[in-house]
Amino acid sequence: MPQDYTIEQMISAKRISARIEELAREIEATYAGTDKLVVVGLLRGSFVFIADLVRELDLPVEVDFLEASSYGDAMESSREVRILKDLRGEIGGRDVLVVEDIVDTGHTLHHVTNLLRSRSPARLETIALLDKPTRREVDVRATWTGFEIPDAFVVGYGIDYAQRNRNLPFIGAVQITGG
Ligand code: 5GP
Repeated sequence: MPQDYTIEQMISAKRISARIEELAREIEATYAGTDKLVVVGLLRGSFVFIADLVRELDLPVEVDFLEASSYGDAMESSREVRILKDLRGEIGGRDVLVVEDIVDTGHTLHHVTNLLRSRSPARLETIALLDKPTRREVDVRATWTGFEIPDAFVVGYGIDYAQRNRNLPFIGAVQITGG
């Protein structure tokens, strides 16, 4: 069981949706004329973000998912990244956009993009809703970032703490109160 905690709103639902509109226009410009974009969501934290993002994109899209191991139920990142669920489709020669919830130490994005690049996509770009640049251990950066945030443990908008709070419409910071 997680310790007792409170959640303080950090980014409102309104700010998130306004930012997604901006990002979608940039992505459309980058992939203009693409035959079919493969949008790859990293499970599970990106499921709300990818749902809102693809509905904002005026492009032909296919959606696929990949699951990499991350925090488990803890609040600390593990440096070892394992693929728990691979893509269903082939990406060789395709235009690919990887959708991540948070870039923290950078190990997950680094590992996943190396893996997907080894399958020879025509183009591979990345988007992260949140970025914690002060936490970086590997030199990676998403092509697009929604918001840079400080070093806090966040939940909501698809992102969990011990599998809870994914259904919050906003991003909030967890404050441990005891327990
Ligand atoms: P990285 O490999 O960059 O350290 O971590 C990436 C993954 O760690 C994210 O996709 C996310 O699943 C998890 N993560 C990083 N920061 C947070 C956070 O503040 N809250 C939650 N719930 N997960 C996080």
